[in-house]
Parts: sequence; structure tokens; C-alpha cells
Amino acid sequence: MLKKRTIAVVGGGAASTAFLAAYARRLSGDVAGAAADVIVFEPGKSFGPGIAYAEDVETALLNRPYSSMSVDYGDPGQFRRWLYRQASARERGNPGAQHTNPEARHTPRSHFVSRSLFGQYLESVFLQSREDLRLLGAQVTLVPSAVVDLTVEAGATGESDSHILTTDDGERFVADQVILAIGTIAPSDVFGLTGAAGFVAQPYPLVSSLSQVDPGAEVLVLGAGLTAIDVAVVLADAGHERRITLASRSGRIPDVRTDLGTGELPELLDGARRLLAHGRVSLHSVLELVDTTLRSRGTGIREALRPYTDSWSAPELLRHRLENPLPGGLAQRCVAALSPFYSELWRSLPDASRRLFLRDHYRTYNCLRSPMPVTNANRLLGLHDAGRLGFARGITHVTAAAGGGFTATFAEGRTEHYDAIVNAVGRTNNTAAASASSLTSRLLRNGTFVSHPLGGIRVDPETNRVRGSAGAVSPHLYVIGDLASGEHFHTSSMELVARQAARVAEELVPASDRLLVGAVA
Ligand SMILES: Cc1cc2nc3c(=O)[nH]c(=O)nc-3n(C[C@H](O)[C@H](O)[C@H](O)COP(=O)(O)OP(=O)(O)OC[C@H]3O[C@@H](n4cnc5c(N)ncnc54)[C@H](O)[C@@H]3O)c2cc1C
Repeated sequence: MLKKRTIAVVGGGAASTAFLAAYARRLSGDVAGAAADVIVFEPGKSFGPGIAYAEDVETALLNRPYSSMSVDYGDPGQFRRWLYRQASARERGNPGAQHTNPEARHTPRSHFVSRSLFGQYLESVFLQSREDLRLLGAQVTLVPSAVVDLTVEAGATGESDSHILTTDDGERFVADQVILAIGTIAPSDVFGLTGAAGFVAQPYPLVSSLSQVDPGAEVLVLGAGLTAIDVAVVLADAGHERRITLASRSGRIPDVRTDLGTGELPELLDGARRLLAHGRVSLHSVLELVDTTLRSRGTGIREALRPYTDSWSAPELLRHRLENPLPGGLAQRCVAALSPFYSELWRSLPDASRRLFLRDHYRTYNCLRSPMPVTNANRLLGLHDAGRLGFARGITHVTAAAGGGFTATFAEGRTEHYDAIVNAVGRTNNTAAASASSLTSRLLRNGTFVSHPLGGIRVDPETNRVRGSAGAVSPHLYVIGDLASGEHFHTSSMELVARQAARVAEELVPASDRLLVGAVA
């Protein structure tokens, strides 16, 4: 009799949940019922939400409309239906409530729901998938610890290798296949301020980290991306009395989401398919394709990208984009529509073009790819106009001041004093920033991982199997999530993580097995 396999899933966040759901779904179409036992490791408070969607303040919002957030790559409306079912259940529990059409309950403002709510959905999908796997014959074990080491022991002749996983409390587990779904690398402390009084090193969860900030403190937020915006909004909502400044090198902030994703762009998608089919992918050809799409809708790339140049200040960008939803909204739609092609387009570009893109265009791309909800844009502009929020560019250095607080230095030599600093530089895919004690660093040191020069680690792009130091692919070790970003380009979104998860589930329950079973039956 064949030995039952064991799959270890390291990490219990969105990527892990997407994998379990995809694996259960794929297995349920397999009459042989070859479900492996599954062990999931997660040191956080619960299984499902991970870091991105952990329990936090209600004002920490998803950056995409709820209708485009789903853990199932093939079913983009899954979260929306979950939300509506929750609302219906509440109404049923309250007979006096008016029964409304679910679509009518949501105003444009509420297209952006809290990340914690999405976390609750993930938790329910995780639990449902665990139950589905049990019904399919798998034993599912949840281990509330971090994995600190992973080694491979060669199997006896004819047997496959064993993967030994060691947790932070010293327990050892053995698995045949391992899925690493450990998210991104924690934000680094670029100015070495850890330990200084008034320095908040990790902003999430905001509910606990920001309660450490004195309401009367002059606050500098390091970073000006989505994390920094979360920090500013939550501090202001908590009644912060003094000015908050968002500071970064470039001073750029994310765009305002003015496209809610209705209406397809078939000519753009056909164009991308043609470029790939004819091997004509270059930075120029992709930009030209976007330009042609925008032109057919009455604008062009030059006009659409005008507000994202360095000469625009953050308040100018906010004001302009709130008053002019187009053409930036159309550019956002083009960027989002191309996401099924990101990985292939990225891999088809010459290496020099990829580096050029990362150096000169990535910031603008990311501004459009991950814009802030309109709610937050209005809030930021209101705070700015009331003199409660500032934006500073060109920050070069921050030191803890002898008498308490911090001194920040800016490019023109100007220095400013701040009482408190919140580190909101965001998580990274730069493996050099991983802490020496992390699993990622350990696997880099022992050669299981090799850093990808464009971020994350080397993987086989077709299967997400890890590529080790000798260039060989580890047959039973997979990565899902941002660690695969060097190979796939953009991976930091629910949609793209779910796509990778579905792909890995396909590898574990290959179609050929399914066909074979069907033939026998
Ligand atoms: C704050 C934040 C907000 C975001 N908002 C959005 C959004 O609104 N929309 C969107 O599409 N995308 C968003 N993203 C992008 C996000 O990266 C993906 O959508 C997705 O959630 C990533 O899931 P993940 O499981 O890969 O990572 P994570 O959410 O980071 O989960 C990884 C899990 O692995 C666990 N883990 C790590 N190391 C170990 C270990 N050694 N052993 C065991 N467990 C381990 C962690 O505890 C964590 O729970 C956001 C990201 C962040 C960080």
C-alpha cells in the first residue's frame, strides 16, 4: 500500500488559506481521494488573516473594492457573496430591520471595507477548507508556532526525501512536501532607531502600536505609502493633537483609486497576447499598447501620467485626482487589466529593461497599481488643509536626540525635531533586509534559497518550486507569495497570491491523475 503523504504549509495567512481552499477544491474532483495529511504552522493569533488582514482598527481599509477581493482566483466575487450573506444573517436575526437589496446597501464609500473584515472571511474560508479536507480523508493539524528551520533528509532507495521542520519551541515535524507561505520580509529599521524611546518599529496592528504614541507628540511617519497613510488616518481618528508628517525620500504618495473596475479592455488584453505570441515584448511595446488603449478612450499615456511626476506635491496630487477621476482612473484600469500577463510579460523583457523599469518606472506603476481608497484621500486632504498633516520629501537621516525625541535631516540640509517616530516604510521583498534569525535568512545561508537579483528568491516560474544554490529545482518545496516576486514581478495582492496558490494546488493534484481516474471509472 502507498504511504500517505504529508504536506506542511508554513504560514497561516491569505496565501496559505488560498492554497488550502484550492487544494481541497481540486481534490474533491479527484475520485481517487488521494488527500495528503496537512500540517499548518502559524505563530499569529489565528489561522486565516495573516499579517495583512489581522484584527485591527475598522479604518484600516482594503485598498481594492470588496467586489474584486477573493481568495479564489477563479471566483472573484466570493468575498462579496460572503459579505452579503453576513448582512442577510444579521437582518434575519433582527426581524424589525428592513430587508434591502444587497447592492443597495453599499454606497461608493463603502466599496472599501476594513481589512479585518476580509480577515474574518479568510478565517471562515480556512476553517471550511480544513473541514473539506477532513471529509476528503486528510488529517489536518494546526501548529500555533513559527518554523525556524527546514532541512531535507535523503530517502532510502525508491523513497522520496523527507523534509524536517523545526518550530521555535523545538518540536520536529516530517513532511513529504512543503509550501512556504510566509509573506514578505518585515520592515527594516533603516536609521537604527530600535530601542529609542518614542520609536514605533512595527506599525501593525495599528490598534496596539499607535496606542504607544503620546497624543501631544509631534510625529514623524517614516514612509509615504499605504502603511504611512493608515498610520496618519488612525492617529488622526484617535484625536491626535499635534501635527503628523509623512516623510520619504521621493515624497511620492500612492494614487487615489478612481477606477472601480467595471468595463473590460479587450483590445489591451488582445494586444498583450499578441506581443507574447510574437515575442515582441519590450518596455516600449508595452507602453505603446497602454497608450493606444488610452487614446481610444480620449486620453494618452503622457496626459494620464502627468500628476505622478516629482514636480507635483502630495496635496496637489490628492486635490487634482479627487477633482479629475479620469484619465488616471483609466490608467489604473489598464495596469490592473494586465495583471494576468504580468509574470509572462516580465519574464519576456530583457534583463536590462527590467532593471530600467524598476529604477525609473516602478514607483509610478505602483502608485497606479495600489492606490488609496477615495475615503482616505479625502481624509488626508482634509487633515492637510486643517494644518494637521504635512508631507516632506528628501529625508536622509534620523538620529535619536540627546535630550529626547529625534532629529531628522532633509536633503537640503534642513533639520527638524520630532517627539515620536512611526516606522511605516512598508514590508519588502529584499532578502538582504531579512533578520538574521528568520527562516528566510537561514534558508539563504544553507543554500536552500538563492536571492533573486530583482527581489525575493529564485523559483521555477511555471510551478513556484524553489530553485536552490546549484540552480536545481527542489522537487517538493514550493513558495506562494511575495518571495516569488523577482520571477513574477508583482505578487503583493490577494488576486496574484490566489493565482499562485491555485497553480501550486494544480501541481499537487495534477490533471493527469484526474484523467486516469476518470478512465478507470
Ligand atoms: C498591511 C498590508 C495590507 C495589505 N492590503 C492589501 C489589500 O488591501 N489588497 C490586496 O490585494 N493586497 C493587500 N496586501 C498585499 C498582501 O501581501 C496580499 O494580499 C496577501 O495578503 C499576502 O498574504 P500572505 O499569506 O502571503 O502574507 P501574510 O499576510 O504576511 O501572511 C504570512 C503568514 O505567515 C506567517 N509566518 C511568517 N513566517 C513564518 C514562519 N517562519 N513559520 C510559520 N509562520 C510564519 C505570518 O505569521 C503570517 O501570518 C497587503 C499587505 C500588507 C502587508
